[in-house]
Amino acid sequence: ASWREACGWDRGEVVPFGPLYLSPAAAVLHYGQEIFEGLKAFRHADGSVWTFRPERNAERLQRSARRLALPELPTEAFLDSLRAVVTADEPWVPEATSEESLYLRPFMFASEEFLGVRAAHAVEYYVIASPAGPYFPRGVQPLVVWITDEYARAGAGGTGAAKCGGNYASSLLGKREAAEHGADEILFLDSETHTSIDELSGMNVFAITADGRLLTPALTGSILEGVTRESILRLAADRGLEPLEQKLEMSEILAQLGSGEITEMFACGTAAVINPIGEFRAHGGSWRVGDGGSGEITLALRQELTDIQYGRVPDRHGWLTRLV
Ligand code: PMP
Repeated sequence: ASWREACGWDRGEVVPFGPLYLSPAAAVLHYGQEIFEGLKAFRHADGSVWTFRPERNAERLQRSARRLALPELPTEAFLDSLRAVVTADEPWVPEATSEESLYLRPFMFASEEFLGVRAAHAVEYYVIASPAGPYFPRGVQPLVVWITDEYARAGAGGTGAAKCGGNYASSLLGKREAAEHGADEILFLDSETHTSIDELSGMNVFAITADGRLLTPALTGSILEGVTRESILRLAADRGLEPLEQKLEMSEILAQLGSGEITEMFACGTAAVINPIGEFRAHGGSWRVGDGGSGEITLALRQELTDIQYGRVPDRHGWLTRLV
């Protein structure tokens, strides 16, 4: 769909996948005025196709749009766009038995041709789709996470809470550094003091204590408000864990790993679902989480979440929306 300042959004259409025409002076190429979302379409055993809490993604796209001075796409138009793409590509939604899904990537960018610095008056919105298997090549295996003391993902008053391409651009060098240290992922600390946990490059972080608390960083404006994060807080409370959103000092977390007070840690997001964290590495050393394996509660939460998504257990929170 296209948006023009004078007339708003048009109706949009489904077209075959192919290259885009963009002017070399399109604002997005110079100033990064771009936002996106990520969701999955799941096929159930009866053949129907569903998505998970898409209205939360619609609302987050609207919040990201406000922060990046882009026009908001109404929730109904967002849901219609997902339905249009999945209907057109329906054979690509993997079978229910495969534990795979169709990843949906809605995105919006400034297409107007100009070189001055201002919000664009012409914007495009697309949804592309791709079948998705496991996020990490090794499947659900404990992650090695590199703690960077050099790079931050977002600063106060910046765009950390928005899902915009620029945040990911600023995380790439840190991700490369993590890979050079044999790690699967990078942990970003807060940009002010570089001491408390923010998030991974594409996932929110959780810790479970021996006495049944589930800890995750509070939404301070520098981390993404994950849909998976919010859902896990709910599922954990249902199981009798005490969910706590608070500032998590990295040094305290590492000490509590050593003392056994924290027994499990995991990272979560739409693409990766829930993945155990087995080890942290940093310039100063390395720290094991529990026995370095996959925690029991972590795997149970993952099982429960995927059972809901694939329709294997009742959707007791009303989280699923039917697409086909
Ligand atoms: N943080 C970042 C930086 C992410 O890119 C993502 C993935 N969208 C998440 C957290 C998790 O968000 P969600 O659970 O909505 O996928």
